[in-house]
Amino acid sequence: MYRTHTCGELRASHAGQTITLSGWVHRRRDHGGVAFFDLRDRSGLVQITINPDLSKESLDLVANVRMEWVLQIEGIVQLRPDGMQNPKMETGEVEIIAREVKVLNPAKTLPFMVSTDTDLADENTRLKYRYLDLRRERLTKNMVLRHKVIKFMRDYLDERGFIEIETPIMFKATPEGARDYLVPSRVYPGQFYALPQSPQQLKQLLMVAGMDKYFQIARCFRDEDLRGDRQPEFTQLDLEMSFVHRDDVLALVEGLFTEMLPAVAPHKKLFSSPWPKFSYHEVLERFGSDKPDLRFGMELMDVSDVFAKSEFKVFQSTLDAGGVIKCLVAPKSADMSRKELDGLTEVAKTFGAKGMPYMAVTAEGMKGGIAKFVTEEEFAALKSKTGAGVGDLIIFATDARAVVNKTLGGLRLWFRDKLDLADKNMMAFAWVVDFPFFAYNEENKAWESEHHPFTMPKMEDLDKFDTDPGAVASDAYDMVCNGYETASGSIRIHRRDIQMKMFQMLGLTDEEIQAKFGHMLEAFEYGAPPHGGMAPGIDRLVMLLADEPNIREVIAFPKNQAGRDVMADAPSEVEPKQLKELHIKFN
Ligand code: ASP
Repeated sequence: MYRTHTCGELRASHAGQTITLSGWVHRRRDHGGVAFFDLRDRSGLVQITINPDLSKESLDLVANVRMEWVLQIEGIVQLRPDGMQNPKMETGEVEIIAREVKVLNPAKTLPFMVSTDTDLADENTRLKYRYLDLRRERLTKNMVLRHKVIKFMRDYLDERGFIEIETPIMFKATPEGARDYLVPSRVYPGQFYALPQSPQQLKQLLMVAGMDKYFQIARCFRDEDLRGDRQPEFTQLDLEMSFVHRDDVLALVEGLFTEMLPAVAPHKKLFSSPWPKFSYHEVLERFGSDKPDLRFGMELMDVSDVFAKSEFKVFQSTLDAGGVIKCLVAPKSADMSRKELDGLTEVAKTFGAKGMPYMAVTAEGMKGGIAKFVTEEEFAALKSKTGAGVGDLIIFATDARAVVNKTLGGLRLWFRDKLDLADKNMMAFAWVVDFPFFAYNEENKAWESEHHPFTMPKMEDLDKFDTDPGAVASDAYDMVCNGYETASGSIRIHRRDIQMKMFQMLGLTDEEIQAKFGHMLEAFEYGAPPHGGMAPGIDRLVMLLADEPNIREVIAFPKNQAGRDVMADAPSEVEPKQLKELHIKFN
């Protein structure tokens, strides 16, 4: 028997018991001829005291023990003497007086310290030795939290009549807007499986199969450019329900996360219950983003009417061209330096703005930037409309509506970070609904589905498909939290004629439709029930709950930012024999 207890579970109530522990040496201290170890396993740490009266053999062995050696200790749990308790340690009331020490396995000198939560190594070193990185308390905690989140999901859905069903990883292309990962077939030369970008088609087919309520902790594979915080494979809670309308799905998922929060992350506060629900147009207008961060104000305000008769050329010409003037009020920022403002103007330009008009509100009135072009009358109207007061900085964007919203939406987040406006312990869940059905791709001169091509349009918009595709609304919805899109979903098309029409709008020929999606269309002819669902991303959610800056910190073995597994060194070359079997030659 390797152990009778785990390190982290020992308390005063265990005093007097003889126990056996196995674990890693977290730290070692030597004090007046006595060695102390903190022994660690996943459950935590406990102090081991090596009395000098152990056998010489044991003491010789102990003399060599270094950090991260694996030991087995038999000893007696003892209350620490008064004043020696360590309130910072969960096991701080006790220590283990060792009677026997066995070395189960020594360890080389580590590439980085495990006994600290500060990242002492660069990320690639951490990932190369991920099994050591994961020993650190912070990462261990993240794995435990992730487990709790997933367990909560499973229990919650099970209680509500959902069943978990696995779907294949080797399948056919399922478009979610990314490139596919392909798996060449050895048996069928020149043919490929595709890894699913999501189980979308399969979960719909499970509804046709009468499974009624399905979920899966599903891995999704998307070959995308690795900008930002993306992983080639990630995990979703994929779910689908039959005979539901939008609000049935929203209620289920809202209940799941509302109940989960106190159970897995009690230090997190829910911003609002019930969650706010916005239309896509409303969030763009008010927050300049379809994934708004609601934890702070600074909403975008349309001040076109204030400047309707403006003498300021830039404003005039925008309004003449049918554009808008909107602004943001940044609190306590009136004293930003010229240099900072120039820097911010460059930030504004990255969102498509041509410039960044601004002015400060001071005790003496408006100042700086475009103040000289603004009349006292306009200033008064501006203040009353925006609520701007002394010490504030007003930032304008003036262009076509979409550019204006995007620019101010981006600057709003810039100020959030600069002024630390968002409460880190707040979870501001919200719904965004009523998305447009199609998005026009200027580059390809073609309509694309805004969500994925299995999303149902609003029934009342069906006749606009041919006449005015841009005005068709979809029955899709997103769940957002703290500026992230944390889930998306929709009511699905379950009729062959509508699905056909959708594919045709996307520019697919009848042959292409048949080859790619013939199985879906056929299934819809055998009594497909109305259905809908969604898929909350698990990595991002756990990242938010764990207060981590990126999803790699909550994935056991992530790829690095260049998409490589640096531990196993993948992707890597394969044997020529394997290529030959797969009928692959490099060009
Ligand atoms: N399959 C969708 C996605 O991965 C989610 C859904 O519509 O359920 O984004």
